[in-house]
Amino acid sequence: MADIVAYPATRLTRPRCSRIFRMFMFPPWMDTFNREERSEIMRRVRSARNASTEGTIVGALRCRHIRGWKLRPPGLPGLPDLFFPNLKLAVFLDGCFWHGCPRCFRAPSSRTEYWRPKIVRNQKRDRKVNRLLRGQGYGILRLWEHEIKSGKGFARLLRRLQLAEE
Ligand SMILES: [Zn+2]
Repeated sequence: MADIVAYPATRLTRPRCSRIFRMFMFPPWMDTFNREERSEIMRRVRSARNASTEGTIVGALRCRHIRGWKLRPPGLPGLPDLFFPNLKLAVFLDGCFWHGCPRCFRAPSSRTEYWRPKIVRNQKRDRKVNRLLRGQGYGILRLWEHEIKSGKGFARLLRRLQLAEE
């Protein structure tokens, strides 16, 4: 009897830790959603991430009272995320996954047949869009998601704007 009581019950259960561990190892959506629903969730996660990179850059521009840009203006090849008409500069905010960032791209192990051709297509389209824009006399700046997150993306944009103004 005394031997059993020697281990405090709290140390064995640790409810908070085990719940977090369970969430990490077995996220609830793993088994409650089917494949289509899961890919829809992933799509939303990715588009939310895209919205957040856009929010970072747009927020930084507004914060510094930098004007003379348009958000996703229609009619330009490749539909740039930002456009500076006076400088004829098109800015793209490229997600590291879908545009195949050489630095942080990690290949997922499943559904290769789905994402692989899509990324290759995106990269081809990016190159084509660059050519088209250059052909029409536009400047191009492509910022990677990881650059935007670290703040280097905005720094590059600032440098480019100063260069373009000269
Ligand atoms: Zn990256």
